[in-house]
Amino acid sequence: MTESKDWRRARCHDLWAEQGGTCFYCQIAMAPPLLQRIRHRKRPDAATIDHVMPRSLGGAAEWHNEVASCRACNAAKADTPPTAEDLENLRKLKSLGRA
Ligand SMILES: [Zn+2]
Repeated sequence: MTESKDWRRARCHDLWAEQGGTCFYCQIAMAPPLLQRIRHRKRPDAATIDHVMPRSLGGAAEWHNEVASCRACNAAKADTPPTAEDLENLRKLKSLGRA
């Protein structure tokens, strides 16, 4: 499976748009991934793709398991399993959009 940087950015942008531009976990506003300047991508509020069920725990690298998360939340969460609330929020989010 090839995942180019451009593809990842476009995917991140789709997730960002799906969530109204806010972090899945802390709800801070994040800059649009496709418009983000390179020097801003390391900022704590930069948008990243997070796998709600970590890939190390068997989570799929697929849209239904992916959310836009700020870099700070993504780093803090690392490989921690999702909480019941995270899973419920994920279910709600994904049932609203494309199924
Ligand atoms: Zn966050």
